[in-house]
Amino acid sequence: MNVVFLGPPGAGKGTQSVMVAEYFEMGYISTGNIMRSALKSGSELGNLAKSYIEKGELVPDSLVIKLIKEVLTLNPVENGYVLDGFPRTIAQAEALDNMGMVVNKVIFLDASEDTILARMSGRRVCEACGKSYHLISKPAKVDGICDKCGGTLIKRTDDNLETIVERLKEYHKKTEPLRQFYLNKKMLNFINGDGTIDDIQGKVIKAIKEGI
Ligand SMILES: [Zn+2]
Repeated sequence: MNVVFLGPPGAGKGTQSVMVAEYFEMGYISTGNIMRSALKSGSELGNLAKSYIEKGELVPDSLVIKLIKEVLTLNPVENGYVLDGFPRTIAQAEALDNMGMVVNKVIFLDASEDTILARMSGRRVCEACGKSYHLISKPAKVDGICDKCGGTLIKRTDDNLETIVERLKEYHKKTEPLRQFYLNKKMLNFINGDGTIDDIQGKVIKAIKEGI
């Protein structure tokens, strides 16, 4: 089973998708993590991705697809993948189909703009393993240190206000059509992401279980 998380930046896709991957013992892929490891690698593709991210722009489809394809090929998993932040355009969704990766469930996690802005300013992510934290709603046990691997927690470079506003604009333009795309395929599960992390998690797990 492969599950895709869709929704605006800041709706909580990262937190929820990591929890779902742990709960169902599935592989986890986020474009964020793939980008971060690409940036560290210093490879040609990595540096190219870096130039977009630093400008607050989305990395182009062709590049994202190359990076995802590599991960899927190198890390086959038994229970399927949770995909967080990919696909985020129709072109990417079609590329996923072309890779032979069947999407079984799409969780569309939405949230109000107020919720989104409040959440994004407190977000932190582990530099080493990519686990997501939040200063208020999901703090680490030790401030600034990842519970899971001991890595350093950083603020994402794309989490400042101007970048957030830009990302919301990009999201509305490119990602919202995906909602219709998956709605037509009858895969879409709409979940309101304005509640607490635990409430949302319960709804997400229920939606996935009902689909098995
Ligand atoms: Zn970590």
